[in-house]
Amino acid sequence: MKDKLQAVRGMNDLLTDQLPWWQLVERSACTLFADYGYQELRVPLVERTELFKRSIGEHTDIVEKEMYSFEDRGGDSLSLRPEATAGLVRAAIEHGLLHNQKQRLWTSGPMFRHERPQQGRYRQFHQIDCEAFGYEGPDVDVEVIQISARLWRMLGITDVRLRVNSLGTPESRRQYRALLVAYFERHRAALDADSLRRLESNPMRILDSKNPAMQEAIAGAPALADHLDPDSRAHFERFCDLLGAGGIPYEVDPRLVRGLDYYTRTVFEWTTTALGTQDAVCSGGRYDGLVAQLGGDPTPAIGWALGIERIVGLMQAAGKAADATVPAVYLVLSGDRAERAGLAIAERLRDALPGAGCLANMGGGSLKSQMKRADKSGAQLALIIGDDEIARGSAAVRKLRGDASQQDCPLHELPERIAALLGRKLNSRSDDGR
Ligand code: ATP
Ligand code: MG
Repeated sequence: MKDKLQAVRGMNDLLTDQLPWWQLVERSACTLFADYGYQELRVPLVERTELFKRSIGEHTDIVEKEMYSFEDRGGDSLSLRPEATAGLVRAAIEHGLLHNQKQRLWTSGPMFRHERPQQGRYRQFHQIDCEAFGYEGPDVDVEVIQISARLWRMLGITDVRLRVNSLGTPESRRQYRALLVAYFERHRAALDADSLRRLESNPMRILDSKNPAMQEAIAGAPALADHLDPDSRAHFERFCDLLGAGGIPYEVDPRLVRGLDYYTRTVFEWTTTALGTQDAVCSGGRYDGLVAQLGGDPTPAIGWALGIERIVGLMQAAGKAADATVPAVYLVLSGDRAERAGLAIAERLRDALPGAGCLANMGGGSLKSQMKRADKSGAQLALIIGDDEIARGSAAVRKLRGDASQQDCPLHELPERIAALLGRKLNSRSDDGR
């Protein structure tokens, strides 16, 4: 028996029955970003491994354990992108997009992380990503969060809550890190293997541990909020004030740290209770040092990323419907002459009624079997054309839903008649019945 070819573990085919939700999310995001003045930018799926090491950080889970890195045929070490920010920053620097200008950008697409696949956690997953470059103040921190909050409203998502924190500047974080290491050294006995490893490499990530046995030790640890530098504290207070003024409910969570090294000051995460363990749906924060760290002019920046799989999961858990769009008209073509005329008739209908859609029968078949296909297609009307009809210059229009009534219609009047039956407007530029 031949080996069955299968998709790579953790990398999913998105079958047609799932796509209506995906398209709803993607279309909504596209409109939304335009409304807020954010422009789309697209970057490659593959970058030099170096880029991710230098931005996300050598001692992060992503870089240490999760990246798909490989040597290409020229001997360069490349990686599939595990997130979008690094590539966007690289592109913005490379194309001079940050020279004396600010940028509000967004992007979306697949990301790759070698994690243990489970519900809501995959090896190829998809993010929508929002970034603002060149804005220093907390007002833009609130703006990017407003965008996410509006997206939840557009998609009918209610089971989410927002947690916020500040990570301060790299300097204040270094001082805090020393305190934290001293604390966890005193509580070494309470640490699990992962945390012991992090104690050496990335002690703040211990606060992020999901191990229940670790929670008591974590609760007793010094809080970063108590050790912020004055500027970061003022930034955070103003940020919280503006969030409140913007009507966005939030909680301050002093334990919220993020898994990537580049964050500074504001960090935030939207979580849900509807998806089990994979509770993070959107997270982000400020990364004021990253652009300079990657060789650009010093540029403050903030952004977030959401996981489309989890957003779709949330919409489905909430029973939010997303209908597939199917053509409203099925064109039944019976006989040689009808088939010959049919392709042009279908095009005329598509010109006259853009968005309504016309599904033309292909490959012949008896009238009965074509009518069956018409019914199954979900179309509202069947347009039936046989050789007799062509000879008479008319067609039969049958309703497929409701009363199943049928009427004859001269071919040149088809666009108007069908528009009326569908309750749609004709496209004025092509309703001349050519
Ligand atoms: P988690 O704590 O669930 O691992 P994260 O902190 O690693 O999430 P980010 O790197 O901030 O996640 O990515 C932003 C969003 O992308 C997450 O909030 C989540 O919705 C989604 N996401 C991250 N990793 C995956 C994955 N492996 N599969 C599906 N979605 C993911
Ligand atoms: Mg993760």
